Amino acid sequence: MSVLKACLKCKKLTEAKECPICKSAELSKNWKGLAIIIDPEGEIAKKMGVTAPGRYALRVKSEQ
Ligand SMILES: [Zn+2]
Repeated sequence: MSVLKACLKCKKLTEAKECPICKSAELSKNWKGLAIIIDPEGEIAKKMGVTAPGRYALRVKSEQ
């Protein structure tokens, strides 16, 4: 089973080795809260600074 990690830059959750949105390899297993963004124009997406639909972490901390 692959581990879901969150991007430290944009909070996108991914099972890949790099973020599919910002291509950052700075991913962390140390995240809390799950937000599913369906409408990137919506209020929650705007508050989070999210520009693409998908699953995001509410809080992400570095693993170090
Ligand atoms: Zn990212």
